[in-house]
Amino acid sequence: MSLKSKSAVVTGSTSGIGLAIARALAGEGANIVLNGFGEPDQIERARSGIESEFGVKAHYSDADMTKPDQIAAMVREAEQRFGSVDVLVNNAGIQFVSPIEDFPGDKWERILAINLSSAFYGMRAAIPGMKARGWGRIINTASAHSLVASPFKSAYVAAKHGIAGLTKTAALELAAHHVTVNCISPGYVWTPLVEAQIPDTMKARGLTKEQVIQDVLLKAQPTKEFVTVDQVAALALFLCSEAASQITGANLTMDGGWTAE
Ligand code: NAD
Repeated sequence: MSLKSKSAVVTGSTSGIGLAIARALAGEGANIVLNGFGEPDQIERARSGIESEFGVKAHYSDADMTKPDQIAAMVREAEQRFGSVDVLVNNAGIQFVSPIEDFPGDKWERILAINLSSAFYGMRAAIPGMKARGWGRIINTASAHSLVASPFKSAYVAAKHGIAGLTKTAALELAAHHVTVNCISPGYVWTPLVEAQIPDTMKARGLTKEQVIQDVLLKAQPTKEFVTVDQVAALALFLCSEAASQITGANLTMDGGWTAE
């Protein structure tokens, strides 16, 4: 497969799964828009590393996924800079763990905005160009939590179930335009997002760190192993291939068997 002369916007790609997907797409020749927050030095290292390792162009956008106008501007800028946005990966996401009765309203709104609405605004901006060129790939990073729930993750589970529905709707709207829309639903992937929720889960459930890892996180995963970011990236890359052109509207799990139970 070659993605040479194609361009990809990957939201939330300064870290974790998004960065692995961006690097995988760059490895096949796609120009990349990196997006997300973090230390400027680290982001610049990731950006310039992609350019030097893969011989593509990489641009960093600091667009905030809670801001619809910034999302649209990021897509417009990518189209101007690279000529097209052929691959859109809606991956940015955050987590907050709390019982519903204590769940702060601003956290609920923020999770819905970043984990769900940003994908809508990104698609709305990128779809016209994809339709005009008659080719596109939209990949949404959902989660096992798009299919099943866990306690104390109300906003996250609601947003991820929402993105699975949005994926299906977009897939139907774009089916005749050679634009596929799918979501990938990983189980637990060892990234900063998972590491960061451990203290809150310890508090919410009264457990030690090791108990959270073994009895909460890996308990759900029959393989008893974390998914790796490179495994998720490999699936995203496959979805960009011609071999995957008839996969659309799918919710592809990569969860060590979690949702089979
Ligand atoms: P991560 O924390 O490593 O990465 C999240 C990315 O989103 C970062 O680049 C961060 O800067 C960015 N981000 C956060 N808020 C943003 C905002 N307002 N605007 C722009 N960017 C913002 O986490 P990750 O585990 O790589 O998560 C990536 C995606 O994968 C998320 O959608 C997450 O829900 C999903 N996911 C993760 C796991 C897991 O176990 N790690 C499992 C299933 C799904």
